[in-house]
Amino acid sequence: MHYNGSIASDTIAAREEGMLAAYAFFSRETCGRRWPEEEHAYRGPFQRDRDRVLHCAAFRRLSGKMQVFTGEMGDYHRTRLTHTIEVASIARTMGRALRLNEDLIESLAYLHDLGHPPFGHAGEDALNECLGEEGGFSHNRFALTLVEELEQRYPSFPGLNLSYEVLEGQRSRVKHPARQLTLLTVTPPLWETQVVDAADSITYDAHDTDDALKLGLVTMDELREIPLIRELTGALEDRFGPLEVKRLRKALVHELINRQVTSVLEAVEQFLATHSPANAEEARRSEFRFAVDGDLARRKRELESFLYERVYRHPELIAVRREAQGRLQTMFHRLVDNPKRLPPKFQIRAERVGVPRAVGDYLAGMTDRYCDEQFRRDFA
Ligand code: MG
Repeated sequence: MHYNGSIASDTIAAREEGMLAAYAFFSRETCGRRWPEEEHAYRGPFQRDRDRVLHCAAFRRLSGKMQVFTGEMGDYHRTRLTHTIEVASIARTMGRALRLNEDLIESLAYLHDLGHPPFGHAGEDALNECLGEEGGFSHNRFALTLVEELEQRYPSFPGLNLSYEVLEGQRSRVKHPARQLTLLTVTPPLWETQVVDAADSITYDAHDTDDALKLGLVTMDELREIPLIRELTGALEDRFGPLEVKRLRKALVHELINRQVTSVLEAVEQFLATHSPANAEEARRSEFRFAVDGDLARRKRELESFLYERVYRHPELIAVRREAQGRLQTMFHRLVDNPKRLPPKFQIRAERVGVPRAVGDYLAGMTDRYCDEQFRRDFA
C-alpha cells in the first residue's frame, strides 16, 4: 500500500492558509534544500526539519550536556535538552498566539543549542581559546557544522539537508566579526526566529532562577533584593497569602515566564495595531524586534546581572568550570600533537579542515560525562 500524499500536501497548504497570519512564513514560500528532495507525503518541510533534528545524535546528546549546573549537582536542574524543550514549548505558545508558523518555530528551537560543547559556555570559552588561530569556536556556528556536515544519517546527502529558512535562522545567531558587519547589510531574522530567541532568554532567566534557588546557591531573601522578584513574589503573596519558600519558588517561575511572554505578546499587538505587514518579508524588515517591553526589559536586565554575579560566577561553579576547561585544553593539545589518537571519522575530517579544527569538532560533540571518561582513560 502506498499513500500518494495528494490529500496531505493540500491539507498542509490549506491548514496554513486558514491558520497563519499574513506576516507568518508560509511553508509554500520555502527556498528549499541544498540537495533537492521530493515533498514528503504527509509532512510539511518544517515538520520534516523538526523531525530530522529530533532524530539526530547531537540532539540526544543534549541530555548529557550541562546548561549551567553540572551533573554532580543533583538531577533537579535543567540540562541542555530540557532547556531546549522548554524553549520550544514557550516559543510555540507565542507562535500560536501570533499565528506564526509553529513548525518552523519548533525546528529552530530544537536546533538552537545543538552546537554546545561539553560544559556549556565554559567549554565554549576553552575551545575558543584553543582554536584562536583557526577563527575560534562558537556553539552557534558548530550547530551548523553538525547539521550540514557531521551528522551522517541519509544515504543521498551529507548532514540533515535542512530547509533554507531553518539554516538561515541559525546563521543569524552567529556573531560576525566587526569588520564583516560593515560590508554586509544584514536582513533581520524572520519573526519565527525572533520568537525563538525571545523564548530562549525568557526560559533561561526563569529556570536559572529556579535551579539556583533549589540548589541553595542563592536564597529567596537575596533574590528579593531585585525589584522584579520583589514585585512578583509580593503579588503572589497578596493573592495566596504567605507561602513557604518551596511553593513560592515554583509559583515565581510560572510568574516569570508568564509576565515575560505576556509582555512580548503585548508589544507585538501594539505594533500590529498601527502596522500590518503583508507578508513575512515585510514583517522582518519592519523596525519591530521581538523582546520584552520597556520597563520590564530594564527589570529583566537587573535579574540577569544578579544571576551573572551571584549564580554563574558562584565560587562552586567557577571551580567546576575551571577544572573542566583544563581537561578540555589538555585533551585538545595532546590530540593536536598526536592526531592518530582521533577516531577514524575525525582523522579523515582533519585532512579537509586541518587537525586543530577536527580535534575541536571531536571534543565539541562530546557529552560532559563522555568527555570526563575519555580524559580519565587516556589523558589523566
Ligand atoms: Mg538556549
